Amino acid sequence: MNNAEIEYKSKEEIKRFQEEKMQEALQYLSRHSLFYQRMFREHDIDVAQIRQLEDLRQIPFTDKKDLQLYNQDFLCVSPEKVIDFITTSGTLGDPVTFAMTDKDLDRLAYNEKISFLCTGTQPSDIVQLMTTIDKRFMAGLAYFLGLRELGAGIVRVGNGIPELQWDTIQRIRPNTIMCVPSFILHIIKYAEEHGIDYRNSSVKKVVCIGENLREQDFSLNLLGQHIKEKWDIDLYSTYASTEMATTFAECEYGCGGHHHPELIICELVDDNGLPVEEGQIGELVVTTLGVEGMPLLRFKTGDLVSIHTEQCRCGRTSMRVSPVVGRANHMIKYKGTTLYPPSINDVLDNTPYVENYVVEVDYNESGNDAILVRIGLRSQVIDDVVKDLKDRFRAKIRVAPEIEICPAADIRKINFPDISRKPVKFIDKRLSSAD
Ligand SMILES: [Zn+2]
Repeated sequence: MNNAEIEYKSKEEIKRFQEEKMQEALQYLSRHSLFYQRMFREHDIDVAQIRQLEDLRQIPFTDKKDLQLYNQDFLCVSPEKVIDFITTSGTLGDPVTFAMTDKDLDRLAYNEKISFLCTGTQPSDIVQLMTTIDKRFMAGLAYFLGLRELGAGIVRVGNGIPELQWDTIQRIRPNTIMCVPSFILHIIKYAEEHGIDYRNSSVKKVVCIGENLREQDFSLNLLGQHIKEKWDIDLYSTYASTEMATTFAECEYGCGGHHHPELIICELVDDNGLPVEEGQIGELVVTTLGVEGMPLLRFKTGDLVSIHTEQCRCGRTSMRVSPVVGRANHMIKYKGTTLYPPSINDVLDNTPYVENYVVEVDYNESGNDAILVRIGLRSQVIDDVVKDLKDRFRAKIRVAPEIEICPAADIRKINFPDISRKPVKFIDKRLSSAD
């Protein structure tokens, strides 16, 4: 499979190409998926009549709850064909299992190969993976497979352990690292404390996952600026999820994640499930293409983004996905203001004396959202930290959450638990206390 040229074709060609792939996907689901067979029957859907991308709107959405309640019914192959088992967190507590066939692993490798190519990664590069490759995750495995397909050198260090990261950088001299952006600050701090000349190390580029680096206008956000001020390296953002089994990676122009039309169909919808107008923010809904084990149809990702359709300076014509504004179900209504966690993170990431933090949201006694920000401080600190922080919040997001100062070591344990691939900076207690 090598269809990457489609990213340079006209919008009409891309649409026609996707409509063919969509037909194949629908036929496949109607033959092999118990879940979708039931959906098509119950809603009287004849997949042969779904010919244009717009026709997809006749089909109900699939959400995380469906995956959890009917997990087994999504599997389209006999169990012997499954090679790799993955889990994702479900909304109802128990994890959801994803099963990948041999063909799915090839698709994943192809997806990462073209995504790394998009970030300018070459076969001659050496990439240090600071991401988890085991613990039932897809991401680390996907990067390994994609880089192997590309022919690049790979060092699998895994997440955490700054000492081992620096030992590896000095020994193997990778020019690229792959990690979550906030971990870069972590390894910079370690380098500073241990006299490592990180600015003159072999590393020239970071391919980032899991957190935003940019604002909606594609300028670097405060976290991105903070990294750049310390270490002038090239930063690339990527956006992906297990359910999509597809990556949206930035090119050198850093203006959104490029869409791979051969791998996924994207729609953006509002709260009522209706398409949003171009340029507006909506929830990303995806239909996977070419997936054999557990393909998804109109899956609601929960991620709020906007889509850019003008041609990129790199020549690609396929659409680009903006940095994620927030998760639809993470919306916080606080003192008359609607907020998403990234806007809170942005204030904290730009406060020089904040070492680390975790944002907790819960219901207060009257059933409204309450925000508690627990903060670990750096050593040199100003007098009234809580007042200063509240002022910073009011200046940027108009409201100030409750603030609690904690030992930085305690927060670090919450931020980087062994079990998570992304740093945990947001804990939503409303999910467990909801009915
Ligand atoms: Zn581009």
